[in-house]
Amino acid sequence: MTRIAPDWLKAPATVRVMEVLGEAYFVGGCVRDALLGRSAADIDISTPLLPEEVSARAEAAGLRVVPTGIAHGTVTVIADAQAFEVTTYRRDVETDGRRAVVAFSRDMAEDAARRDFTMNALYADAGGRVHDPLGGVEDLAAGHVRFIGDAAERIEEDYLRSLRFFRFYAWYGNADVGLDADGLAAVATHLEGLDRLSGERVGAEMKGLLSAPVIAPAVAGMAASGVLARILPGADPQFLGPLVHFEAEAGLSPGWKRRLAVLGSKDWADRLRLSKGEGRHLYEVRRALAEDRGLAEVAYRLGTEVALDVALVRGASSGGMPTDWQGLIAGAAEKVFPLKAADLMERYGPGAPLGAALKSLEAHWIAEEFRPDKAALLAIDRDTAV
Ligand code: ATP
Ligand code: MG
Repeated sequence: MTRIAPDWLKAPATVRVMEVLGEAYFVGGCVRDALLGRSAADIDISTPLLPEEVSARAEAAGLRVVPTGIAHGTVTVIADAQAFEVTTYRRDVETDGRRAVVAFSRDMAEDAARRDFTMNALYADAGGRVHDPLGGVEDLAAGHVRFIGDAAERIEEDYLRSLRFFRFYAWYGNADVGLDADGLAAVATHLEGLDRLSGERVGAEMKGLLSAPVIAPAVAGMAASGVLARILPGADPQFLGPLVHFEAEAGLSPGWKRRLAVLGSKDWADRLRLSKGEGRHLYEVRRALAEDRGLAEVAYRLGTEVALDVALVRGASSGGMPTDWQGLIAGAAEKVFPLKAADLMERYGPGAPLGAALKSLEAHWIAEEFRPDKAALLAIDRDTAV
């Protein structure tokens, strides 16, 4: 029998929660990632116990319980300040492509069958023994992202699964084997349903996908199947491969925003429901690229993060990075303009002309690679007619 032995399995909080619940299994991502030796984002637990029973047992043991989604069978149990989502086994009663009406079940096999991919239908008991009702362990080892049951039917139940198909392929797929053919065909023939998904759900999946270390094969599959154009009209994956390459070469961790920027669509903010800050970052990157701003100026005016993305997107689409571009950015980002308004007050007095003079001196200073000092800038100002 396959076993997992990740650090979290023996952590006191985990052991306590499993003891208190009795009949319970770790499920989904945490088991899958433990099999690969990857760390887990969160630990989900599934159980045949009804939510009230989960709450009762946890409370009787003095653990805090939050009724996160009782109607859907989920209770959050907190031990040592760590949250465990405990969900009762479920089966689908009704689906409409976005939401499911579920009934509780006593049967692990039923619970497994309603999940999306075989590699996500993995369970492990408190001792780490893996229960694999659908052959997910083998698919995981092969890097085969395979729908549970008939791919087309599963997509019709929930169109988000089309996007999850590519997300999990990016993270767990074997690029030599390629995307599962049945899955890809089903995705390609079910594009309309994508329009009905909420921007939040699409955004969460896309951010997850674009954060994987290697994404070009997954995004190429999205483009070939028509999914990419459907969710991000105008997006072009042409320069994604080089971007990922230069990003890794620079020792940077995967950045979903710069990967989105290189795809070159627009309306991301709306279609993916980005936060204000995320939307502003992308807007600044795109504008600096469109205006062909120098890297030093971008770094000085907009900061390191924007400049890194501008440099990488530009490098990817032009076939190479300039020498010491990271040093250039770091240096420019910490430059401080040597003049203050007070330095020009005597000549201009308060008001718009003073602002204009400062601005033009700053532009000159940037164009001169930040070299002119305060005295030089004041001399230039004196030589300029007002
Ligand atoms: P991650 O590490 O990215 O969180 P995960 O496998 O935990 O991966 P989640 O989106 O957190 O992914 O979902 C948890 C589990 O719930 C999945 O492993 C899968 O079994 C099931 N699941 C989630 N979303 C769906 C869906 N749309 N359709 C079917 N099953 C789903
Ligand atoms: Mg998860």
